[in-house]
Amino acid sequence: MNPIASILDHFPALVIDGALATELERRGCNLKDDLWSAKVLLQQPEMIKEVHRDYFKAGADCAITASYQATIEGFVKRGLSKSQAIALIQKSVRLALEARDEFWADKSNHAGRSRPFVAASVGPYGAFLADGSEYRGHYGLTEKELMDFHCPRMKALIEAGADMLACETIPCLIEAEAIAKLLKEFPNTVAWISFTALDEEYISEGQIFADCVKQFEGHPQIAAIGINCTSPKYISSLIREAQKTTSKPILVYPNSGETYDALENDWNGDPACDSFGEQARAWYRMGARLIGGCCRTTPEDIRVIASWVRTSR
Ligand SMILES: [Zn+2]
Repeated sequence: MNPIASILDHFPALVIDGALATELERRGCNLKDDLWSAKVLLQQPEMIKEVHRDYFKAGADCAITASYQATIEGFVKRGLSKSQAIALIQKSVRLALEARDEFWADKSNHAGRSRPFVAASVGPYGAFLADGSEYRGHYGLTEKELMDFHCPRMKALIEAGADMLACETIPCLIEAEAIAKLLKEFPNTVAWISFTALDEEYISEGQIFADCVKQFEGHPQIAAIGINCTSPKYISSLIREAQKTTSKPILVYPNSGETYDALENDWNGDPACDSFGEQARAWYRMGARLIGGCCRTTPEDIRVIASWVRTSR
């Protein structure tokens, strides 16, 4: 099952959702914590479901689950047992599935769109470290160690019924390769791979983006490839770079252009542009086929993207 292909067969582009954490904070959740939105999974799960619902209403074709920073190790450190940790990770999928099913149960929501799907977030090892290294890489771990880190969460997310995996905010090639290898252990599951970038040409750790993309060209379970949580100003060039080496659908869901301060656990600077949703139209024209927003983007940004996606044929 490839939910991306099912939508792109019928629509010119697929609308990814926007930031989860930003919306949770706007609704009063305190995310100043190493476990970030995972903390809300523990304490305010209804709030997560509400944000998913709002993104579906805004026009998102997919919800990315609140498992980005939810890891077994992270929860065990907080005093949970391993089985409680797995249950909590699976809860992130259940919340998104429930939000989707409730949204789709209302037939008035069907007009001009496909049934949305749930992409389970597989955040990078750097998100577990909670020191901003998802924008740097250089973990000093082997591919095998990264596979051991990712395997149990990927298994939990798949078993919870996610439609696919969103392997996102990956700063280095070795981590993408570890994930790609692991995917073979779950042959019925597809995934997207999304890197963070340093600039117009390089991913965060310094590898050439076009070369990274090329590595996965022949991998049948990787349904799309691209960039997220990177400044919008680099996105057009990165799309052009990806097109040199891949025929897979290219996905982009940049952040608002502000920069992340891992020490303060906060975002600084001004958004790069007035209208994120309008700027995203240029990425579609460049050839991106899955488009949404990462940190600091909102349901309103997604609503603007969905409005031009569903009227351009
Ligand atoms: Zn982000």
